[in-house]
Amino acid sequence: MASPLHILNTVFGFPGFRGQQAEVISHMVDGGDALVLMPTGAGKSLCYQVPALCRDGIAVVVSPLIALMQNQVAALTQLGVRAAALNSARSFDEAAVIERQMRAGELDLLYVAPERLVTPGFLSLLDQCRIALFAIDEAHCVSQWGHDFRPEYLQLALLHERFPAVPRIALTATADGPTRKDIAERLGLGDGRIFVAGFDRPNIRYRITAKKNAKEQLLRFLEAEHSGDSGIVYCLSRAKVEEVAGWLTDKGYDALPYHAGLDQSVRAANQDRFLRDEAVVMVATIAFGMGIDKPDVRFVAHLDLPKSLESYYQETGRAGRDGLPANAWMAYGLEDVAKLGQFIASSQASDTQKRIERQKLNALLGLCETTRCRRQVLLEYFGESGAPPCGNCDICLEPVASFDGTELARKALSCVYRTGESFGAGHVIDVLLGKDTEKVQRFGHNGLSTFGIGAELAAEEWRSVLRQLVAAGYLSIDVEGHGAFRLTETCRPVLRGEIRVDLRRDPLPAKAKAKTATG
Ligand code: ADP
Ligand code: ZN
Repeated sequence: MASPLHILNTVFGFPGFRGQQAEVISHMVDGGDALVLMPTGAGKSLCYQVPALCRDGIAVVVSPLIALMQNQVAALTQLGVRAAALNSARSFDEAAVIERQMRAGELDLLYVAPERLVTPGFLSLLDQCRIALFAIDEAHCVSQWGHDFRPEYLQLALLHERFPAVPRIALTATADGPTRKDIAERLGLGDGRIFVAGFDRPNIRYRITAKKNAKEQLLRFLEAEHSGDSGIVYCLSRAKVEEVAGWLTDKGYDALPYHAGLDQSVRAANQDRFLRDEAVVMVATIAFGMGIDKPDVRFVAHLDLPKSLESYYQETGRAGRDGLPANAWMAYGLEDVAKLGQFIASSQASDTQKRIERQKLNALLGLCETTRCRRQVLLEYFGESGAPPCGNCDICLEPVASFDGTELARKALSCVYRTGESFGAGHVIDVLLGKDTEKVQRFGHNGLSTFGIGAELAAEEWRSVLRQLVAAGYLSIDVEGHGAFRLTETCRPVLRGEIRVDLRRDPLPAKAKAKTATG
């Protein structure tokens, strides 16, 4: 049997393996099952292509995308590897030729669409072949946690039952903790080894800051660190994209808008300028970025929360592809959380799907409100644990002090309770501070026991406390009730004083500082 390295050198023309390729490949060659999680571009294909050539028989690769299959087959054929693809693009005659080659043992790799693979006819064809391995590409399609769930992937579990002796490898670039678990379970890969690697982007500096006046904050960030740089500013809505792009242009930046509501020709022209010229700031919705390969994007800024940690990772990942220092900067506030919550609630998705989306949003909040290294939190979500604090995120650079915030938490939670769980941050803070507003009078909230019990903090600081209580799950935001806070079950022991709540002390804005200083 040819050694993996020999195949890599002679067939693929590469001098050595990258990252964990060698480990994965030797595990496969020995007949083990594996789940491989690596970001796009890390070199997942070789993880099954090399073992396919080392082992006897044909490797069967399940892939959901016809275009992708054709590319792979073309590339392999170029290298002299005997590869073919069976999918709906094949004529009956073409398919018959491929099937004959399979029976005769004349193919090393076969790419096949999942719906084809699980047909009785194809399975009995496989019974007549010697199979080297099964590779399941884009394995996140088997999970409802991923964003491209494909029901036909669920049936792939039968491969294991029907061909128990054939090793299987599942590969994906998008797998957070829950998706990974789901993939392993649904494909029956429970005993296989999991290989996770390469999600870190060490040159990206992560920073997340509380949103006050987002546009001004963005401007200060750009002025301080990115004059003359290319970058992307992500916003949630088309209207906001237009507004921010116009505003940055007024401030002297070469800013262009990009969203799905723009004319195709305008979008193409703006994208072109971004790719070609230096120092273009693209203000965009998430419609922008797929397949954009510009190495010198120096910053990605988020003026609104992305919808999950995967989205955050993917969007910020467009910065610094050249490996030089780059910034991922985000301003977020409770309004964002309420807004995204509303999107989820009002979508057409099933209840299960909505629950998943909410959990994803919560994981993102966890990143926003963490007192730990942001990179550690991010990498752990993608299954890479054990990394040391990175030294290149806001928290590593300016460690946040945490303090016993139990009393503050109790005050805030009681105030939410006393005001009937019917109000958002603005009013709850007014009551805490003892402000005699029109609304306070209208609801008689100046007569509550919690009226004015929070005068020791500035409004800004209460906002931070409330955000942290939401992120910790003590408060939820009722999206059907206009963003009112609701108490959750888990907050009872806090109210009863049975558990301690640690809070982070956010850096104070100048105004709030002055206020606390003067009492
Ligand atoms: P993925 O599927 O993880 O997105 P690919 O398998 O398409 O990544 O590989 C990305 C690129 O890296 C390809 O051009 C591939 O040829 C190249 N590549 C992968 N492994 C190696 C290696 N060991 N040495 C050199 N180039 C490699
Ligand atoms: Zn860090």
